[in-house]
Amino acid sequence: MDAVRIFDTTLRDGEQSPGFSMNTAEKVRMARQLAALGVDVIEAGFPIASQGDLEAVRKVAEEVRDVPIAALARAKKEDVRAAIEALKSAAEPRLHVFLATSDLHMRVKLNMTREQVLEAIDSMVRLGRQHVAEVEFSAEDAGRTEIGFLCRVCRVAIDAGASVLNLPDTVGYAVPEEYAEMFRRVREYLGDPPGITLSAHCHDDLGLAAANSLAAVRAGVRQIECTINGIGERAGNASLEEVVVALAVRKESFGVTTGVHLNEIFPTSRLLSEITGIQVVPNKAVVGSNAFAHEAGIHQDGIIKNPLTYEIISPQTVGVPSRSLVLGKHSGRNALRVTLRDLGYEPNDTELAECYRRVTALADQAKQVRTRDVVSIAHEVMRRRPAVAQTASPAA
Ligand SMILES: [Zn+2]
Repeated sequence: MDAVRIFDTTLRDGEQSPGFSMNTAEKVRMARQLAALGVDVIEAGFPIASQGDLEAVRKVAEEVRDVPIAALARAKKEDVRAAIEALKSAAEPRLHVFLATSDLHMRVKLNMTREQVLEAIDSMVRLGRQHVAEVEFSAEDAGRTEIGFLCRVCRVAIDAGASVLNLPDTVGYAVPEEYAEMFRRVREYLGDPPGITLSAHCHDDLGLAAANSLAAVRAGVRQIECTINGIGERAGNASLEEVVVALAVRKESFGVTTGVHLNEIFPTSRLLSEITGIQVVPNKAVVGSNAFAHEAGIHQDGIIKNPLTYEIISPQTVGVPSRSLVLGKHSGRNALRVTLRDLGYEPNDTELAECYRRVTALADQAKQVRTRDVVSIAHEVMRRRPAVAQTASPAA
């Protein structure tokens, strides 16, 4: 089966959205978990944006050695130089150069002609290739770029030495058939040159980021850019967990694999929430606290008889603690300690006392304290992820 590479941009596109900024230590912590998750590329930042961002990319590159690290640059000399500088110590650096190619962006934002844009792509990709073996080029706003010109852009980027061509739906405007058709037209024009990977990068303004990414895979795309919990500009990026789990659950239909360890998905999602202090909505696909909760009696009955009746994927597969806890106000402190240990937490006596106080307070108000309540209380009290990662079925 063909492999689809997962390019994680949580630390770049995700991090640049309101409320999600991370300092260097937090980026390194997140990057380590992304490596454990098994992503193929980690985009660590946009070095020209600030000295802090440059340092963060450098630090991530120094600390995470087993996953290629990417840094973003506009098609400008100072950007490309900053990115090269930040990537100097990376074991496997990837320079990611972008320039807008839609008529609207070129006219209004860049004040450049088509010929000037082609010239900038050519010279900046070439400059990058003098220092970094792997250069990705992104045609910003590709989704609204005239297809004939987009094909020329791709040709120029390849001839200058880019090996990954990313054609983003920057503004989240595309629908799946249209987005797939764009890739088909580009492939037809380029003729699938060896060593060249097409990449999708989708935004969720119409709630279609995952659907568009999957449509792109059907059209031959072999790299998906996405983020944990779908964080990113405006309505966010395609969410890694949705795309990866869809490819896994519907493997027969898509005929591709990814290198992601599914059972690390939930711990990764929770780590990001813990670092940023922003929880995912309860009904979020795959990682929401309700994603595997069954309230309706008919559904509960079905699940008890056979989980396949109402679950297309088991919670354990994506690393969700599956134990159905019944912790009430009569539960003792020791039961809580054992429960926390099962969930991967090792509280000290003070932390245990505080968790216990909160659990019993909650039990007074609610009929039942659920696993997810205990997890969120433990996260809040201990401000750290489980000492022992949740493991269940082996990675698929
Ligand atoms: Zn983006």
